[in-house]
Amino acid sequence: MMKLSIVAPIYNEEESIEALHKAITHAVKDRIESYEIVLVNDGSKDRSASILNKLASADPRVKVIHFERNCGQTAAIYAGMKQSSGELVALIDADLQTDPRDIFKLMPYIPQMDFVNGRRVHRQDTIVKKMSSRVGNAVRNWLTGDNIQDTGCPMKLLKREVVDSYYLYEGMHRFLPTLARMNGFQVIEVAVSHNERKFGVSKYGVLNRAFVGLMDAIVVGWLRKRVIRYQIMLNRKAPEQREA
Ligand code: UDP
Ligand code: MG
Repeated sequence: MMKLSIVAPIYNEEESIEALHKAITHAVKDRIESYEIVLVNDGSKDRSASILNKLASADPRVKVIHFERNCGQTAAIYAGMKQSSGELVALIDADLQTDPRDIFKLMPYIPQMDFVNGRRVHRQDTIVKKMSSRVGNAVRNWLTGDNIQDTGCPMKLLKREVVDSYYLYEGMHRFLPTLARMNGFQVIEVAVSHNERKFGVSKYGVLNRAFVGLMDAIVVGWLRKRVIRYQIMLNRKAPEQREA
């Protein structure tokens, strides 16, 4: 069976880290023989660092990475994916708004699909957040020429090959399914459950996300038009070498 790496970015999530570890362990321990939990501390200023260190010393499955300072969610996800070793990588946020058990709703689509993105069907967020996300997805799809309904869903499952194909820039965690498609991979969206944020607070407001998200979507749309796909011909002889 393939090894699974579960990767979560963590910025000031002292309230949820232990619950997150418990929920992930509970979800996977009887179903997957070989797994690791990679927790990336993105320069937290609360007690997250010491809670993470304690977890790592108690559970050999836990691997902790600390950043020197806050570098942003894309950097945290990127470092976690690159430092992980599973053939399959599951992404999840630390706040437990998505349920680690849903990894097994995504799993059946592998290996036919290379990247399975969750889709929060009954989203438990404020009206403002739900509306801004809907508008955000529509604008992103319009600018990138893609049709992903819930690119921001924190629950994702991808093959190592997809991870290896990424070279991410700040903000690109919002475009992972589109970037995977641009790199030639098969992507599907699958319904997952969603809960209210029971611990801590969201790290984003509507406006900061909207403006840079718009600029990023323009860039990704541009890049998508510039994707190069070439195939090298095998055994092609130059015209003068061909037999008459
Ligand atoms: N996060 C991070 N670095 C940041 C901001 C957020 O690692 O600079 C993490 C955060 O701890 C959480 C995930 O990214 O695990 C998503 O953040 P949040 O839940 O605040 O975003 P929302 O779900 O409200 O969009
Ligand atoms: Mg969240």
